[in-house]
Amino acid sequence: MTTGHGPGPKFAIVGAGPAGFYAAEALDIECPGAEIDIIERLPTPFGLIRAGVAPDHQTTKTIQDAFEQIAQRPNVRIVGNVEVDRDVTIAELAQFYDAVVLASGAPDDAPLDVPGGDLPGVYGAAEFVGWYNAHPDHAGLEPLLDRDSVVVIGNGNVAIDIARILSKSAAELATSDIAAHASERLAQARISDVHIVGRRGPLEAKFTTVELRELGELEEAVAVAESHQIPDAVGSDLSPRDRRVKGKNLECFKSFAQADPSAKARRIRFQFNARPLNVLGNGRVEAICFERTRVENGQVTGTGETLEIACGAVISAIGYRARPLGGLAVSATGDRLTNTDGRIAPGLYVVGWLRRGPSGKIGTNRTDAEEVAALIRSELVVGDKPGLAGLKPLLASRNVRTTDYVDWKKIEAAEIAAALGGEPRRKFATMHEMLAVLGA
Ligand SMILES: Cc1cc2nc3c(=O)[nH]c(=O)nc-3n(C[C@H](O)[C@H](O)[C@H](O)COP(=O)(O)OP(=O)(O)OC[C@H]3O[C@@H](n4cnc5c(N)ncnc54)[C@H](O)[C@@H]3O)c2cc1C
Repeated sequence: MTTGHGPGPKFAIVGAGPAGFYAAEALDIECPGAEIDIIERLPTPFGLIRAGVAPDHQTTKTIQDAFEQIAQRPNVRIVGNVEVDRDVTIAELAQFYDAVVLASGAPDDAPLDVPGGDLPGVYGAAEFVGWYNAHPDHAGLEPLLDRDSVVVIGNGNVAIDIARILSKSAAELATSDIAAHASERLAQARISDVHIVGRRGPLEAKFTTVELRELGELEEAVAVAESHQIPDAVGSDLSPRDRRVKGKNLECFKSFAQADPSAKARRIRFQFNARPLNVLGNGRVEAICFERTRVENGQVTGTGETLEIACGAVISAIGYRARPLGGLAVSATGDRLTNTDGRIAPGLYVVGWLRRGPSGKIGTNRTDAEEVAALIRSELVVGDKPGLAGLKPLLASRNVRTTDYVDWKKIEAAEIAAALGGEPRRKFATMHEMLAVLGA
């Protein structure tokens, strides 16, 4: 890693997820000659590509190859194992860099704010997905999966990912990079029914058709919907695009409504128009109670009718929250930092989920980063900042053992070498294991 103090602008990007890499790429185009340091709290880069995207969706994870190309540019460096707010502050970064770009995502779960929402056996999607994807923050979760039924709350693709991972056979997961601790626990689990519950109807759900269709093709699980909840047709008030998209989803739900629930050993059961009232249980989750809803003029209202589902665990996939990095103001929705078109203050910018909240696909972060990079260029004042040549000694004085791209490749090589059977890699789930590979 060179720490040259060249004449070009110095940029620090906080977070090596998709938004961080796209910001590096866009800044490199906007500001030729720039030195770009991507500061990442883990020794492993790629954010939710590694720790969010489902372990059985390896094709989606190949976007990582494009990020590797960016990381190998001579003017781009990964400064890993450095957590902003713990090891260095934003104010300190601003002393060393001409602009600081925050790209640290929205890593926390929106709380399931109902009585019993804190019982053992209630998990947020961020922690549950992090657990099966070997994120060091969540590797020790040990979720309660010892009863035959699990409820997943939420009507987006994250809920589908969770239901699918809970329902796949060991053989189906054998070619994934699911954490070893998760595949072992799932193999011992007794789950026969996974309920996906949403407070709105099937046509309001945010599922994409590809993900829905996949549920109809599982080896040991059948997707089931209740025919009385599935409308005959999509509304004529929708735009042609929405009619097309919703129409495809509706075809999936219709086929699920005709499926034989006993056709396979497990079921993924869709429940619509039900909002959580309270989680029930004595010392742990034993059931969850919902109120039936109707949607009128886009608003969800309760009908007073209730539905109780016995279950051993509840996983709530109802949204994410941003962390107020550096004490910066968070939006009223709690899922992003307050910003104007990506600008927080002079020299301080934000991209990705932290800028716009948890929405869109991986590629959405690219458009977003390009916009912010153009803004940065238009406002850039290049001073005689030292960049990494200033940051490195500060981190060393605090005994921070930084990692770089070469270190990541060593960790990756060790994970690939440890893979069994058809696994692409066997992921390390603790910082200790990752750093041990580096002899640290
Ligand atoms: C469960 C799940 C599945 C998904 N599946 C898909 C999919 O199949 N297809 C798709 O298109 N999109 C998918 N997405 C969306 C996609 O992952 C996001 O759009 C994208 O990851 C957001 O990028 P980001 O860089 O803003 O945040 P992140 O990916 O969260 O990256 C943030 C990075 O910042 C680091 N960081 C955090 N705090 C600090 C700190 N204080 N100091 C230094 N570093 C820090 C984190 O470790 C992380 O590496 C999925 C999302 C989730 C949650």
